[in-house]
Amino acid sequence: MNFSERIRRVEPSATLAISNLAAELEADGADVVDLSVGEPDFPTPENVVDAGKAAMDAGHTGYTSSNGIPELREAIAAKLREDGLDHGPENVIVTPGAKQALYETMQTLVDDGDEVVLLDPAWVSYEAMVKLAGGELNRVDLAPHDFQLEPALDELAGAISEDTELLVVNSPNNPTGAVYSDAALEGVADLAVDNDVTVLSDEIYAEITYGEEPTSLGTFDGMADRTVTVNGFSKAYSMTGWRLGYVAGPEELVSEAGKLHSHSVSCATNFVQRAGVEALENTDDAVDEMVEAFAERRTFLLDRLDEEGVGAPEPDGAFYLMIPVDEDDQQWCESALEDAHVATVPGSAFGAPGYARISYANSKERIGEAVDRLVDADLL
Ligand code: PMP
Repeated sequence: MNFSERIRRVEPSATLAISNLAAELEADGADVVDLSVGEPDFPTPENVVDAGKAAMDAGHTGYTSSNGIPELREAIAAKLREDGLDHGPENVIVTPGAKQALYETMQTLVDDGDEVVLLDPAWVSYEAMVKLAGGELNRVDLAPHDFQLEPALDELAGAISEDTELLVVNSPNNPTGAVYSDAALEGVADLAVDNDVTVLSDEIYAEITYGEEPTSLGTFDGMADRTVTVNGFSKAYSMTGWRLGYVAGPEELVSEAGKLHSHSVSCATNFVQRAGVEALENTDDAVDEMVEAFAERRTFLLDRLDEEGVGAPEPDGAFYLMIPVDEDDQQWCESALEDAHVATVPGSAFGAPGYARISYANSKERIGEAVDRLVDADLL
């Protein structure tokens, strides 16, 4: 077969080598502590599962209107209005996961040769999505600033120009857990307005924070018409396998992206959308409990790392943190897996060589066990 030039632009995920190796070790009977996962370790709240079952039983198993059922689009718009965004259901497309929302946005906004600015470390799929759309990457490295954006605003100003089409902002951040300050987001807004840049704000971890609640980027002056907000149900409601997310923005974006949506996925799964309404409306306690558990594990992990003399920048959101490791972080992660049976993700997968990402979506016992093993194997 002759494969497209487009598909040959992207590499398989750099995390694959680690997960394959972990699977091999487990098949051989090893007890691997998996701190590489990007999903909460809690079941989906029971009332959400029940709503999904009830919807199936009630026969909600056919196609829905392409952009989503009105009840869910309205519930999403109501949530966005609570966040301060002036959105109605006409501003929302419901997608099978936030990933599809991001993909549709990139395909809708980025032309061949267009410049897209990423803030490194950045979640692995942005780069692939930009390349698939034909865009050119321009990256600003936040690693020297403890992964914070505010001290890197001058560098961002140097990177953004009138040639920039799109800037991607992800706060709370995967892989660092950083939550960008309001001053940082205000700086982003000024640069976006001055240079007529569209900003894609991936807010999928917004419910999982340990300090001040993050502000939605689209609420800053001049941003309403130039912000595309993406969010999803995977992380906040522990619904990774349900595949439910959304993109929200100006109506003309919804209209253009809606073409790709209808010609590719048609719609998100009918009964899953109905469970999504329940998740948005009736899960405050369940979300609080999960966030509380993450907060405890975060403190526990930071304390253990501190005891071992590992200085990790303190994350304010999501359930990840980055630890400094050897320059060859891929090799460090392979050794951690082979010698300590601890799975982590190399920072270079996110544009942050010299670090490893640790997910603390795991029990305190297993997190403690992982640190002990890494210390015993002389890796910390
Ligand atoms: N954005 C970020 C930053 C993520 O970490 C993830 C999941 N790992 C996604 C988007 C996609 O989430 P989903 O497709 O499950 O909604």
